[in-house]
Amino acid sequence: MAVYDFDIGILGGGSAGLTIASGSAQLGAKTLLIDREPRLGGDCLHFGCVPSKTLIMTSRVRHLMNNAAGFGLPGVKMTPVNFPDVSARIRSVIDTIQKHDSPERFCNLGVRVEFGDPAFIDDHTIRLDGRPYTAKNWAIATGSSPLIPPIQGLETTPFITNRELFSLGHLPESMIILGGGPIGIEMSQAFCRLGTKVTVVQHGSQILPKEDKDMADYVMQILHAEGVVFYLDSQIISARDSIGGREVDVSTAEGGTITLRAKVILIATGRTPNIAGLRLESIGVESDKKGIKVDNRMRTGRKHIYAAGDVTGRYQFTHAAGYEGGIVVSNAIFHLPRKADYTFLPWCTYTDPELASIGMNEKRAKEAGISYSLWIEEFRDNDRSLAEGEGTGKLKMLLDQGGKPIGIQILGAHAGELISEWVAAMNGNVKLMTIAGAVHPYPTLAEINKKVAGAYLSKKIFSDTVKKGLAFFFDLKGRACG
Ligand SMILES: Cc1cc2nc3c(=O)[nH]c(=O)nc-3n(C[C@H](O)[C@H](O)[C@H](O)COP(=O)(O)OP(=O)(O)OC[C@H]3O[C@@H](n4cnc5c(N)ncnc54)[C@H](O)[C@@H]3O)c2cc1C
Repeated sequence: MAVYDFDIGILGGGSAGLTIASGSAQLGAKTLLIDREPRLGGDCLHFGCVPSKTLIMTSRVRHLMNNAAGFGLPGVKMTPVNFPDVSARIRSVIDTIQKHDSPERFCNLGVRVEFGDPAFIDDHTIRLDGRPYTAKNWAIATGSSPLIPPIQGLETTPFITNRELFSLGHLPESMIILGGGPIGIEMSQAFCRLGTKVTVVQHGSQILPKEDKDMADYVMQILHAEGVVFYLDSQIISARDSIGGREVDVSTAEGGTITLRAKVILIATGRTPNIAGLRLESIGVESDKKGIKVDNRMRTGRKHIYAAGDVTGRYQFTHAAGYEGGIVVSNAIFHLPRKADYTFLPWCTYTDPELASIGMNEKRAKEAGISYSLWIEEFRDNDRSLAEGEGTGKLKMLLDQGGKPIGIQILGAHAGELISEWVAAMNGNVKLMTIAGAVHPYPTLAEINKKVAGAYLSKKIFSDTVKKGLAFFFDLKGRACG
């Protein structure tokens, strides 16, 4: 039997790789973890979730200060934002979390951590800094990078991506964001609130293309009211550097061409898998432009080589990467066959208000040919929302023909937290009756979950048939007021 240096080798120390490394080592597997950057944590910690959510909070504080009068307070005289101070706060949050992802912590768990650029020599061996390392199993968790679209002139026009965005030397006076997906939209609101004039150019007919159009349009209206300018159905033709800024030629939905000018161009047009240089083709691991192809046990065509996280191009979220990392550990180390199931994978776009989703939305249900009934509750009818000055947004619940929830979308304050009740309910097959009957504290935003469940059930409970039955058996006398 072949002898290998390690039971498992992992390429990439981000959300997926760290999950695989800690799980494998704690199960007693001899584990090697390699990252090409000289630190662990990946995109989420350094250039993604953590800096973006920290920035969003800073921009929210400024927004609330700007709107102090709406809360009965004296107006606040605002001075311009010093972006290095904002960056310093972002840096300090990253540094605090980084301790959890330190090589020392992983070494204590039993993981050997190496830094450098690995490449496969054969399907059990990689070369790192001229030295071969062999492993019985390999996991590729190298994440993704910003996809730079082929736009004429872009190669000679300075632009930024999420890698530079959180450490800018000053707040840009103006910014053109190419791409209306979650990253572009979250950042459009955050920078607009800090004082940047923001324009979003989106090629499709709605922002946040995965979401139902009514929910995405609702978000767009809120951001538009705050000052973000949107161009939908618009294509970027060319870009160039000009005196005092950058210029972008855009063909608009109306069929004309306009030139947009800004100090900064932010590219947020999607992601591309980090596979260059790994020599995957030489060992028969297949990939396309979205990512490495895997089956539902996260195995590539070479069954002892797994891939997880953004590099597979499936669901590009930190919690999806962690989930898939767990599937790899089950299959590769525990030898317990386990398949990934994304039916109830939730996600959230952290605009203010947030837009969170689990299961089917109308778009996905229609595409899948699933018939559903739709139940809606508005946040303007939620007492806590009104008290907090947040009465915008709504909850949409999709039920199958048997009255079972198949999807929830929430657009509202803290929607990312509110969806968790549905995460538990849908994964645990909890009945609507249980949610409607469970006492929720008053006044909370989460009462909207109970209310939408109750709305469906009350139609049944307070039906004419029930009323007639009660009148017959218990001699009820009916309405007391005409
Ligand atoms: C601005 C922004 C905001 C985001 N916000 C959220 C959010 O709020 N919630 C959410 O769930 N997701 C969010 N995401 C997505 C999230 O960051 C990713 O889904 C997540 O980081 C994927 O984890 P991963 O382990 O697959 O990749 P990563 O975390 O990127 O880790 C990959 C690691 O592999 C290393 N690597 C790359 N190439 C090689 C190589 N050749 N050899 C060795 N190592 C290599 C990298 O250095 C990196 O450390 C956001 C992303 C961005 C860009």
